[in-house]
Amino acid sequence: MTRAATTPAAERPLLEVRRLAKHFPVRRGVLSRVSGWVRAVDDVSLSIAPGETLALVGESGSGKTTTGRCILRLLEPTAGEVRFDGVDLLALPPREMRRMRRQIQVIFQDPYSSLNPRMRIGTIVREPLDIHRIGSGRRERDEMVARLLQRVGLDPAMMRRYPHEFSGGQRQRIGVARALALRPRLIVADEPVSALDVSVQAQVINLLIDLQEEFHIAYLFIAHDLAVVERIADRVAVMYLGKLVEVAATAEMFKNPLHPYTKALLQAIPVPDPARAREREALRGDLPSPADPPPGCRFHTRCPVVIEVCRKVEPPLVEVTPGHWAACHLVPGPGGPDGRRG
Ligand code: SF4
Repeated sequence: MTRAATTPAAERPLLEVRRLAKHFPVRRGVLSRVSGWVRAVDDVSLSIAPGETLALVGESGSGKTTTGRCILRLLEPTAGEVRFDGVDLLALPPREMRRMRRQIQVIFQDPYSSLNPRMRIGTIVREPLDIHRIGSGRRERDEMVARLLQRVGLDPAMMRRYPHEFSGGQRQRIGVARALALRPRLIVADEPVSALDVSVQAQVINLLIDLQEEFHIAYLFIAHDLAVVERIADRVAVMYLGKLVEVAATAEMFKNPLHPYTKALLQAIPVPDPARAREREALRGDLPSPADPPPGCRFHTRCPVVIEVCRKVEPPLVEVTPGHWAACHLVPGPGGPDGRRG
């Protein structure tokens, strides 16, 4: 097997995902018979180096959140491998997986629904420390919580308040403090700024960048919008209907996108210049149902440059230039990941 599609060659990955798949049954009728399968994630390989940010980008329904949940083992994958620091997470018994979770934390999109409204902020942030019995006792853990709150830009005196007393941005900072409590090496951030105003988004992204520099955390940063990942991501993986369609270093992806879907996502980013705005071509149509994806290239029903072969033959993900991968019949490449064009 070749190295996962997104590993910088020189670094040993912290996270390595190989050929990950997650299929959900579609049930029909009074007997709930399985009438088909939704291939929410289909043969996805990616990896993240220590201290790196990989952004996973795609529309709602592309499978990016399901990928994140399979990595966290909040969902059991149908097939594939997830290795963290060389350890096969899918083979770990529950007890060892709980220990491993110290190193892999999550930040959710909606900080309000992910924070227990009946718990005080201090208790919410302290909970992971309590569960893993970090520190010598309650007092020491409370001191740790105070330092964490301060580090994410909140007044430690707010420890006794409840989530509803905070703004959306402050609540996301609380979510970040909780994720940070156990000093994780990887954080899966699932649309962490999507629910926030643009100005607040920038503040939270700056905080995540600062924390990464300080603690050498790796992020899998899941987003539906390419614009929000430009500052934070080292590399970007674009996903469409359960498949990766393009992977590249961020600057390269923005300067030289190869896949028509990536180009459409980039063109959808609002620009202040009206002359450029007129050039933009909107992404045509809706995302087809993942329960019944189009044959051949899954993007062919919306692709502005579709050719006949696209309707029948699925294009493989190939490394076009070092580190830049794309899955499109119109993209010339030196060969497939294993040296052959499929
Ligand atoms: Fe468009 Fe064909 Fe490329 Fe798919 S393979 S993105 S349909 S040109």
